[in-house]
Amino acid sequence: MTKWSPNSWRSMPIQQVPAYPDAAALAETEARLASFPPLVFAGEARKLKKQLAAVANGEAFLLQGGDCAESFLEHGADNIRDFFRVFLQMSVVLTFAGAQPVVKVGRIAGQFAKPRSADNETKGDVTLPSYRGDIINGPAFDEKSRIPDPARQEMAYRQSAATLNLLRAFAQGGYASLENVQRWMLGFVSNSPQGERYEALANRITETMDFMRAVGITSETNYALRETDFYTSHEALLLGYEQALTRIDSTSGDWYATSGHMIWIGDRTRQLDHAHVEYCRGVKNPLGLKCGPSITPDNLLKLIDALNPENEAGRLTLIARFGHDKVGDHLPKLIRAVEKEGRKVVWSCDPMHGNTITAAGYKTRPFDRILSEVQSFFDIHRSEGTHPGGIHVEMTGNNVTECTGGARAITAEELQDRYHTHCDPRLNADQAIELAFLVSELLRK
Ligand code: PEP
Ligand code: MN
Repeated sequence: MTKWSPNSWRSMPIQQVPAYPDAAALAETEARLASFPPLVFAGEARKLKKQLAAVANGEAFLLQGGDCAESFLEHGADNIRDFFRVFLQMSVVLTFAGAQPVVKVGRIAGQFAKPRSADNETKGDVTLPSYRGDIINGPAFDEKSRIPDPARQEMAYRQSAATLNLLRAFAQGGYASLENVQRWMLGFVSNSPQGERYEALANRITETMDFMRAVGITSETNYALRETDFYTSHEALLLGYEQALTRIDSTSGDWYATSGHMIWIGDRTRQLDHAHVEYCRGVKNPLGLKCGPSITPDNLLKLIDALNPENEAGRLTLIARFGHDKVGDHLPKLIRAVEKEGRKVVWSCDPMHGNTITAAGYKTRPFDRILSEVQSFFDIHRSEGTHPGGIHVEMTGNNVTECTGGARAITAEELQDRYHTHCDPRLNADQAIELAFLVSELLRK
């Protein structure tokens, strides 16, 4: 293998590259970004890797989730808080059931760039470049907004910094204290079947906290009750941006991506000897690798060799996203190959990306198929004797109607009511908590 450097990916074949009209303006932006402060620190990425090593060893569970794509338009405190509290609710449900630590990783504070299945989009007789995420171009279907604009990278960087700042305050400033477990409920969730279930669980936690307080264990004396570790992640798709934020850690002398704690390689850009794998292999962050139906066991083992040559637990999370009807054909072969070679990985299930359909003119995901893929993922791991280590979901704290089904039985006709996503359909708060309860039952078995 050739020598790695933060720009060695530039000489490799690459997929999903935006056509920037002005190369000089792009280079200027990248140079400016390279002079900006890092968003995250190497020590934090190392701490996450340690926690993921516990997942790889079967001693913890990974919850990863957030928007398909963050947007400039929806950047506000309420959205961040509503996402974070649903995420906390899910993690409390999972921790309580699994009696295991839950490693919390948001798809947030950097999840802006999107891979697309087609370079162009046609409406009537107009053809324009596809929308590739707010860090690249705009979602409006007009020529101006679809031209890739490097200035958007600085906006994405600043939005990530502001989002991360608020998340750090929430995670460490008392909002995430288990004493607030009752208060995390959102108005519209409290009136649903999930609300009642959650409240019953929250009451049990409060009772336990009362007991602990009586014996002298309080949130003042115990940081684990008061604070939580929350990490950020995104797809490392726009490599010029990633390179600009790649820095040497002064304590270890290693290179880290400082755009987020964990980065992953998408299903469309995971070709061995191509640019995305090249970039990711050289940074020491925890990495994710999306595994869709086209990956073969041999393929996967070669990618593991490239991305985790030292077989370090916590370095690599394999995110299976096959579809409810395909997971049974693909996942067992991959697990057996990985086990046979003794590779240490985290197995996580993305039940979203293999279950996308079109209904009533909307891209949607039937909730029962999402549940069914998660159920199969657990069943398969149980029969292979491996650890079903986590889930990876697209979700929001808002009361959207983007995925059909769930306890409120959203129909295809209702999708138009509150379909807000710029990209893929997300679970709403109700559906996200319902999924957490299902997983909590599977964890208990
Ligand atoms: C995504 O996670 O938004 C995504 C595009 O996933 P995948 O690479 O698995 O298709
Ligand atoms: Mn998506």
